[in-house]
Amino acid sequence: MNLLLLGPPGAGKGTQAKRLEDAHGFVQLSTGDMLRAAAAAGTEYGKKAKAVMERGELVSDEIVIAIIGERLEQPDLKDGFILDGFPRNVPQAEALDKLLASRGLKLDAVIEMAVDDEALIERISGRFTCSSCGKGYHDKFERPATEGVCDKCGGREFTRRADDNAQTVRSRLEVYHKQTAPLVGYYGEQGTLNTIDGMAAIDDVARQIEEVVKAA
Ligand code: AMP
Repeated sequence: MNLLLLGPPGAGKGTQAKRLEDAHGFVQLSTGDMLRAAAAAGTEYGKKAKAVMERGELVSDEIVIAIIGERLEQPDLKDGFILDGFPRNVPQAEALDKLLASRGLKLDAVIEMAVDDEALIERISGRFTCSSCGKGYHDKFERPATEGVCDKCGGREFTRRADDNAQTVRSRLEVYHKQTAPLVGYYGEQGTLNTIDGMAAIDDVARQIEEVVKAA
């Protein structure tokens, strides 16, 4: 099954994508993670993307469409995938439709995670990740059971994203409302859109998503 998680930064897309990976074996496809990996590796497009990401703006459609196009060729996606952070605007959504159709694939469901803007700033500014396994945590909402030790892998190093600061978050939210929110209408017209309450607790959000998955 192929899913798309749609929602502003901090809506919980990454958290829920990881749960879906664990529960169903679908593979998370996060263009943000791919761009951060490219930036850390210092590749040509990684260097270009890094500066754009630090400003909270969108990396060029050409780059992200090429990354996703290549990723969709990999053989590990046969049980399904979860798109997280792509598409981010209507031209990317149109390109995705073409990429999927040319591979005989389709989206089974688009899940919009609706969250209030005020909650997002708090959610984003407190988040951090295990450097070893990538498990996500939050200063207020989800701390490791033992302080300083990852629940999942026992790792002791954690990282915070460079673009999770108040100023960059504000431009990321602005970009979301201007460029990404129109995708709600786009997928509404296609008949694949399901809107869930992203303000609920993490387990409740996961339950709502499971219902959509069962019905898809
Ligand atoms: P994310 O991890 O999804 O919050 O993405 C972090 C940053 O990566 C964004 O603020 C953008 O600068 C860039 N990015 C991720 N996905 C895309 C995309 N589909 N199109 C353009 N830029 C993207």
